[in-house]
Amino acid sequence: MNISRIAVVGAGTMGGGIIQLAAQNGLEVVGVEASEAGVAAARERIEAGLAATAARGKITAEQAERARSAFTLTTDLTEITKADLVVEAVFEDVELKKQLLGEIDRLVGPDTLIASNTSTIPLVILAAATSRPEQVVGLHFFNPVPAMRLVEVIKTPVTEQRCIDALTALATSLGKSPVLVNDVPGFVGNLLIVPYLLDAIRAFERGVADMESIDAVITLGFNHKMGPFRLSDLIGLDIVHDMAASMYEEYKDPRYFPPPMLKQYVRLGWLGRKTGRGFYTYDD
Ligand code: NAD
Repeated sequence: MNISRIAVVGAGTMGGGIIQLAAQNGLEVVGVEASEAGVAAARERIEAGLAATAARGKITAEQAERARSAFTLTTDLTEITKADLVVEAVFEDVELKKQLLGEIDRLVGPDTLIASNTSTIPLVILAAATSRPEQVVGLHFFNPVPAMRLVEVIKTPVTEQRCIDALTALATSLGKSPVLVNDVPGFVGNLLIVPYLLDAIRAFERGVADMESIDAVITLGFNHKMGPFRLSDLIGLDIVHDMAASMYEEYKDPRYFPPPMLKQYVRLGWLGRKTGRGFYTYDD
């Protein structure tokens, strides 16, 4: 199963990173966004990502230049038809993803694989929205995509082994370390990290300590690169909220219930780094 052409639907934080990573590794990529404004924002984000990766010496200036001509961006979903693999990376909204996977399924040829970058939505729900559930695999990249080594490859009870093998090989060829995980809401990463992030917000709400202090305990005491508030801002507070809501829906465990402060910040549009304000404010 040769994957040389991929399509990425939703070119935001994650989709943009996947497009950059694939393009700088020699794949032909088409990215699809919902609007022209989305296309412009994606182009800017990917260009900045390539420049930053080159500045850090991870790729040469020539590789960055080649990557720039390896991807195109469009608002036209029908441009995905020639892809060997379509990766869906839109908002963490089950109805939106189901509708989109159905459309993708109708547009692409019978051999095309479909992957979702969902963080928490059971993959079986998305697989069942297509006519090829055995060819639907979870490909859960981490943020920022070009830098983080892990990819969770998620299989459902019906995923064909050849599809798992193809996506594991693809992740490896992109320089990642794939880990195979079964289809449970949150997989491994978010099963563990989401309640941790929510517990930190609840601790702040209860007045245990301010957020700088909570972050300091985690960075200084546990040697994490960043604390839960900076990590939430990096992930995006809307994404943290939607992951929590989706896991609460599945598990009905109060540990996953989105705390009021998180809801409030999302309603205010304070979504973290991507909007310049979340728990912290950002100038860059
Ligand atoms: P984001 O908000 O940055 O990007 C989502 C993009 O999808 C937006 O640019 C939006 O315009 C686009 N979009 C929405 N509807 C669309 C449509 N119909 N057609 C084309 N594009 C459309 O979100 P994100 O952080 O990139 O998250 C995307 C997915 O990746 C979610 O499922 C999320 O749970 C998952 N994820 C996020 C992270 C993270 O740290 N942010 C990590 C791993 C996985």
